[in-house]
Amino acid sequence: MDAPADPHVGLRSGSTSGLAGGAAEAHLNGNGAHAHLNGHRTHVGIGGRVLVLNASYEPINVCNIRRATVLVLKERAEIVERGEGALHSERLTFERPCVIRLVRYVRVPRDVHRRKITRKAVLARDAWTCQYCGRQAAGLTVDHVIPRSRGGQSVWENIVASCAPCNRKKGNKTPREASMHPRSSPRPPGPTVFIQLASPRIPVAWEPYLVAA
Ligand SMILES: [Zn+2]
Repeated sequence: MDAPADPHVGLRSGSTSGLAGGAAEAHLNGNGAHAHLNGHRTHVGIGGRVLVLNASYEPINVCNIRRATVLVLKERAEIVERGEGALHSERLTFERPCVIRLVRYVRVPRDVHRRKITRKAVLARDAWTCQYCGRQAAGLTVDHVIPRSRGGQSVWENIVASCAPCNRKKGNKTPREASMHPRSSPRPPGPTVFIQLASPRIPVAWEPYLVAA
């Protein structure tokens, strides 16, 4: 599941091309590691990842500190949550971004959220809850609401989390035949699900921005 961590996802507005050049030529030095903003030698690990919000405050994705700092230096984003400590170059000190917000609204293409369907993403979307009986059982499976053998497709709208007993019980029946209907109609998950999957440990500072997104 690497798509959500891709720092380019959601930032393809045309305004971010050539980010690595120009004004952002600086050598950051945080935690003893160097990140050459303008170079290819980036030593990742200068303090982790940064949550990127759209101008509307909707979370879009996650990127690394280097990229976030470039966006801020180029005034394409502002820091809304700061991390502890600062990043230093020879002459300048930079605030350490933790959450940034794009200055201009970026239209996120619909299909960005129609990412690859994985078991993990389906379970995360459904809050690890069987959509038929409502139990948060261990060993959840995914179930095709309309079975594949009945022409059901492998799309977000047709796949739900299901405990093994419900999955067995439903078998090759349609919801109507089995009298088993998903509790909420399945749909493609929002970016938060992928941000959560990409960052197993969600920093506290991110939480307010991920609620109900
Ligand atoms: Zn169940």
